Amino acid sequence: MGSCRKCCQTPAYNIEVTMVEFIPLAFHLFEAGEADEWLTRLSNIGDDEPCVLLERDCTRLPAGGCRYYQLRPMICRLFGFSAAIMRNGLLSPVLCRLAKRSLLFGDNDQPISHTETTLPVLADYARKIFSLDPYLSGRQYPINIALKKALEYVGFKLYLCKISEALQDSTSFSSEHQCP
Ligand code: SF4
Repeated sequence: MGSCRKCCQTPAYNIEVTMVEFIPLAFHLFEAGEADEWLTRLSNIGDDEPCVLLERDCTRLPAGGCRYYQLRPMICRLFGFSAAIMRNGLLSPVLCRLAKRSLLFGDNDQPISHTETTLPVLADYARKIFSLDPYLSGRQYPINIALKKALEYVGFKLYLCKISEALQDSTSFSSEHQCP
C-alpha cells in the first residue's frame, strides 16, 4: 500500500502531539527566518483544517506531503509502524482502517501474517519524549496548536537570550568605562 497521506488530510484536531516534538522544527524556522510567517498562518487557520505542514501543491513537492518531513513529530513517524497496548495487555497495530485492511488481507484480500510483537510500542516512545522535558511534553494538543505553541515558546526563549546578551554587553561596557 502506497503513502496515501489520508491521515495528514484529516482535521488537525484528530492528530495530537506535544510541544516538545515540535521544538526542533520551531528552532529551524527561526533560524530560517520563517517563524513569523508560520505564526501568522497558524493564527489564521481553522480548527477543522488539516495540518498546516501538509503541502497539497504538487508543483512544490512532487507527490505532495509533509513540508518538514525530517522534523515531523513522533506520531507521524510511528503511525502505521507501531503498536498500542490494549486493556488486556496485548498489542494492537496502530493503523487506520485502510492500512489495516491492506496489511491484514494483502492486495488480493488473502490473509497475510504479521508479527505485532516486533512493532515499536507507542507508549515506550511517549515515555522517552516525556523524559526529554516533562513540562513541554506533559500535555498533547491538536497538531497545529502544538506547532504554534512550540514557535511561541522558542521565540520567547530566543528573546530572553537576546536580552541577557544585551545586559551582559552593557555591563561589560559600563565596567570598562567606569570612572576611576
Ligand atoms: S507534520 Fe507532516 S507527516 Fe505529520 S500530519 Fe503534518 S504533514 Fe502529515
